[in-house]
Amino acid sequence: MMPSPAQPHFPHRQNGDGSYDSICTRCLATVATAQKEEQLYPCELAHVCDRLRLYKVSQGWWPSAAASKDV
Ligand SMILES: [Zn+2]
Repeated sequence: MMPSPAQPHFPHRQNGDGSYDSICTRCLATVATAQKEEQLYPCELAHVCDRLRLYKVSQGWWPSAAASKDV
C-alpha cells in the first residue's frame, strides 16, 4: 500500500505511563493521547492540520524530531 504524500501520517508513541500519543507528521501536533492505541484512530480521522502551525513548521519552528505535546 502506497501512502499518499498529501495525507498526514500518524506514528504512535508510547508514553512512560503506558498511554499512546498519536503524532501528525505534517504539523507535528500531538493529535490524541489515549490508553489504548485503537482509540487514537477516530482522532486521526478527524484531525485537520492547523494552517498557521503548518506554516510555522515549514519555517523550521519545530524540528521534526521534537514532536512534543507542550504547544
Ligand atoms: Zn496535522
